[in-house]
Amino acid sequence: MTTSLRTRLTISYVLVALLCVVLISALATGVLEGSFRRYVQANLETRNRQIVDQIATRAGSNGSWDAAGISAIGMDALDQGMIVKVRDTAGRTIWDATQHNNGLCEQMISHMAANMASRYRNWRGGYTETLYPLRSGFATVGSVSIGYYGPFFLNDEDLAFLNALNRLLLLAAVAALAAAVGLGLVSAREITVPLARVAAATNRIAAGRRDVLIREKTSVRELDGIAAAVNDLSRSLDEQESLRRRLTADMAHELRTPLATLQSHLEALIDGVWEPDQRRLAGLHEEILRINRMVSDLENLARLEKEAPELRRTRTGITELVNGIVRNHEAQFRSREVGLVFTGNGAVRLSVDPDRLSQAVINLLSNALDFTAPGGKVSVVVTEGSAGVEIRVADTGIGIGPDDLPHVFERFYRVDTSRSRTIEHGGLRRERTGGSGIGLSIAKAIVEAHGGTISAASSPGKGSTFTILIPRSGSA
Ligand code: ADP
Repeated sequence: MTTSLRTRLTISYVLVALLCVVLISALATGVLEGSFRRYVQANLETRNRQIVDQIATRAGSNGSWDAAGISAIGMDALDQGMIVKVRDTAGRTIWDATQHNNGLCEQMISHMAANMASRYRNWRGGYTETLYPLRSGFATVGSVSIGYYGPFFLNDEDLAFLNALNRLLLLAAVAALAAAVGLGLVSAREITVPLARVAAATNRIAAGRRDVLIREKTSVRELDGIAAAVNDLSRSLDEQESLRRRLTADMAHELRTPLATLQSHLEALIDGVWEPDQRRLAGLHEEILRINRMVSDLENLARLEKEAPELRRTRTGITELVNGIVRNHEAQFRSREVGLVFTGNGAVRLSVDPDRLSQAVINLLSNALDFTAPGGKVSVVVTEGSAGVEIRVADTGIGIGPDDLPHVFERFYRVDTSRSRTIEHGGLRRERTGGSGIGLSIAKAIVEAHGGTISAASSPGKGSTFTILIPRSGSA
């Protein structure tokens, strides 16, 4: 059975309050009543002695008794529930409350009995008498017997005090319970309201809304954490969604150009406008190759961006591998009058997929060549460090502006379509093949599949540097 957070919190607050009330009540009855009882008993004893002392002042050593004074003291004592009897040394009664007003005495005793029975269930008490010697100076002149309902009794004021205390405890208990319920509801609200907000936000995200953001702050750190996590989720879904949309649009756009060329050229051939000579057919073939390259690039990328891309790893000397790639491209660079220099003499062998890693380096090299004018220079440096092996490809080409630099690794991203398709090469405008903005995405996917990183730095007009880091651990 599931219960709401509000009910749970309120119940636990009420339980804690109840526990406190029970503990306080138990302590109050146990400790407070015990000490109050001792106080009442001590008080009784003190009062008895006061009565005896007062009577002693009315007793003459020569046998003369102040009967009126003693009667006043006795009556006063009777009012407080004490039955006083005064005798002289010979045992003659000087004053006796029962003789004076027996009805009142009996009424007092039964009143006290009723008081005790009202307070304590199963109270077993009875009439008790204590005898005190009566002294005048150093001589004993008689005795005072004080009778009361014992072993102790509560008079009306004592009873009123104890009952008031009980009422106070009851009131405190009711107030504590009410506060517990109120506090439970309020603090539950503090949690349930933001939680409901998060639930509503996730439902909206699930329903396809991408503009969901929880802006309200709470006073609970964990709840703010959940809201921040949902906001991050919403943002990243939004990003993914717009990336997906852009990808589809970009792909359509990239395919349209070669397809349109193909279509118009083929129509011209069909209509007999053009002769189907070898040059024209070769042109058509080139367009088909372009589409083919793009599709296989995309396929390649999709394979590399899988959760666990398949890599054919073998222990490979990275410096040697990169040196080989540089050597293979020297002629191409020479023909474009771009210098190519290799530096590196390490011998570290890492477990990598040599074909894929070569692909990444080739993509960097071919970009460096494509964006460097004749007379420029491209240097490739391999450095072996404790963290791994670093491959740096630096050119003295046109560079990349700071606004474009963060995006160059994105699929289909080209700094400027016109710029990347044609570049001045010593006055000659050269049509770039490829150039669909996938090269760096593939390089990045390859490097990341090896657990490495790729980064770019550039100053426009001066050149760019791309750095690949293949870690020892990720490729071990
Ligand atoms: P492409 O296949 O178009 O070269 P890439 O993903 O390799 O696509 O590169 C993306 C874009 O980054 C390029 O179109 C170009 O604008 C820019 N770029 C890449 N490398 C360089 C470089 N070495 N110098 C200047 N711009 C570069």
